Amino acid sequence: MTSIQHNLQEVRQRIAAAAARCGRSPEEITLLAVSKTKPASDVAEALQAGQLAFGENYVQEGVDKILTLAGAYQPEWHFIGPLQSNKSRLVAEHFAWCHTVDRLRIATRLNDQRPAHLPPLNVLIQVNISDENSKSGIMPDALPELAQAVAALPNLQLRGLMAIPAPEKDYQRQLAVCQEMADLLASLKKHYPSVDTLSLGMSDDMEAAIAAGSTMVRIGTAIFGARDYGATPPQQ
Ligand SMILES: *Cc1c(COP(=O)(O)O)cnc(C)c1O
Repeated sequence: MTSIQHNLQEVRQRIAAAAARCGRSPEEITLLAVSKTKPASDVAEALQAGQLAFGENYVQEGVDKILTLAGAYQPEWHFIGPLQSNKSRLVAEHFAWCHTVDRLRIATRLNDQRPAHLPPLNVLIQVNISDENSKSGIMPDALPELAQAVAALPNLQLRGLMAIPAPEKDYQRQLAVCQEMADLLASLKKHYPSVDTLSLGMSDDMEAAIAAGSTMVRIGTAIFGARDYGATPPQQ
């Protein structure tokens, strides 16, 4: 067994254990394997171990892997990085999900650029829940207005919310922030029947995210190992 296959097993066990502790079924929680900076061969190994959903942060890097791996396995690709307007077309054309919609301009472009032969692009609205230093995500009070506008776009399917909480070591404080996201999701669900997804939890806070109600955890390091950005960071 390769280390990626071994790591995947361990992460799946962590998800199952966290779900069991709060009386949830592990099937409610999708594991998104975050493969940014990792080669297509690593993704292929994970595919062979039964992993089907992958997250990418950099548009061109993601598209390269999507095209390299198109074939037998039909992986489901999620765009989870900051999205600039001039890269929206590639996301609309190649990905099944976009987790980082945080302004109407981007949503409108994704809608207009989604090819007619593909199903609607699944989108999550990114909420800035706790990170004052981050410019990504909308403030919670802006959510109702953006959600209404996104839900009206025919080539997008509003599926829920995503957040990247500020790093926090204390479990109870992780849980409090995750609970705020779960409350926002619950209020969104009342208005939009298509909403079913809370993308929350990374390698260091997935237990708290699952306890609060996350339905999709985004795990990179614990599956593929530490990332090496080298001398120059990857381009958007
Ligand atoms: C990199 C990244 C992850 C994965 O983080 P790990 O700590 O490596 O598990 C999850 N979500 C987003 C948005 C990321 O950029």
